[in-house]
Amino acid sequence: MRADGTLATPDDPIIPFIEGDGTGVDIWPASKMVFDAAAAKHGRKITWLEVLAGEKAYRETGEWLPEETVQAFRDHLVGIKGPLTTPVGGGIRSLNVALRQVLDLYVCLRPVRWFSGVPSPVRHPEKVDMVIFRENTEDVYAGFEVAEGTPEARRLIQHLHDELGWNIRADSGIGVKPVSETGSKRLIRAAIRYAVDRGRKSVTLVHKGNIQKFTEGAFRAWGYELVRDEFSDVAVGWDDCDGNPGDRLLVKDAIADITLQQVLTRPEEFDVIATLNLNGDYLSDALAAQVGGIGIAPGANINYMTGCGVFEATNGTAPKYAGQDKVNPGSVILSGALMFEHIGWMDVAGSIVRALEATIADKVVTYDFARLTEGAHEVRCSELAEAIVERL
Ligand code: NAP
Repeated sequence: MRADGTLATPDDPIIPFIEGDGTGVDIWPASKMVFDAAAAKHGRKITWLEVLAGEKAYRETGEWLPEETVQAFRDHLVGIKGPLTTPVGGGIRSLNVALRQVLDLYVCLRPVRWFSGVPSPVRHPEKVDMVIFRENTEDVYAGFEVAEGTPEARRLIQHLHDELGWNIRADSGIGVKPVSETGSKRLIRAAIRYAVDRGRKSVTLVHKGNIQKFTEGAFRAWGYELVRDEFSDVAVGWDDCDGNPGDRLLVKDAIADITLQQVLTRPEEFDVIATLNLNGDYLSDALAAQVGGIGIAPGANINYMTGCGVFEATNGTAPKYAGQDKVNPGSVILSGALMFEHIGWMDVAGSIVRALEATIADKVVTYDFARLTEGAHEVRCSELAEAIVERL
């Protein structure tokens, strides 16, 4: 990584990939075809390094997430993955969560924009152009939970009663919601830098601080403090400028529940969003639905301090379609475009996005969009990739 936080990428990098379970066998080759063609168009070549996770890893190594896979992402910094099955009853809660935790990928990045021609349930999907920065390591997702009726729950309830005077019903399960200044500020810092670098207009801190004052409320306060301490030359908080930022980036905040209404009724008022883990989970899917659903929503998990990033399908493995060359590879293809942006290959990323856009505009789509689009030309997963390559 360079001193300015960007990655120094050779023209022939080695990039690890996880094919993914279920429809991964269809989606990955289609995506790779697009990536290789787009890289070649700009005089570059990727050496793909297969690493194992999920069912394929379990079959071949007896482990769901082998250490070599994690190490490959550490060594090569960026990688891409198809969807992975969450093992039911296995020792691992979720492979995706495990990867985020071991690599400390503290940002879940979800750009949400509409592509002309994509079927949408709202009247003006073209007004949706938001980028969500969801905190990935804290909040109720940190995994600190005890089940109702266990000795641990009883001890905790007693302790909270004795030490803090809290009366919690005896038959409660309990979860802990940690939100730290460190975790909040590094997330919000990444969102502000992203917004400044790309000439975005605003960052909205989405929180539930009116109720959860010392976690979500603190997230908001730390955000504004960060703007004053580190970004006063390029950004300004709402209260410090009465909503008039001049040519600086505006940092504002909104309560999570009203945000879920306003992203529908006034999407043009939202640009980059920085939020906590649970709010971000809800918001990402609610927004993805407005622009065509998870079939083409890209996602990434990134640590902006190390540069490490795992770019991923946001849809699941859709096992009933596995091996049928049927499903939409758009999510992995657009996640790849995000990955190329992250490594500084803006030209490659731009070509992929424009070619996908042109393909959809020509109504060349997979079954999921075809069933919602009048006059569509339905193609297979691999044929969609070929159509995108033709339009690169
Ligand atoms: P899912 O695999 O996302 O499938 C649900 C439905 O979404 C599918 O039946 C299909 O709808 C549609 N869909 C999914 N992928 C699509 C694609 N590429 N193109 C078009 N439509 C697509 O969700 P799930 O059935 O709840 O989960 C299956 C497994 O995936 C579970 O093990 C889950 O844990 C895992 N999962 C992994 C990830 C990840 O790795 N990122 C994310 C979510 C879930 P229709 O049948 O209506 O066409």
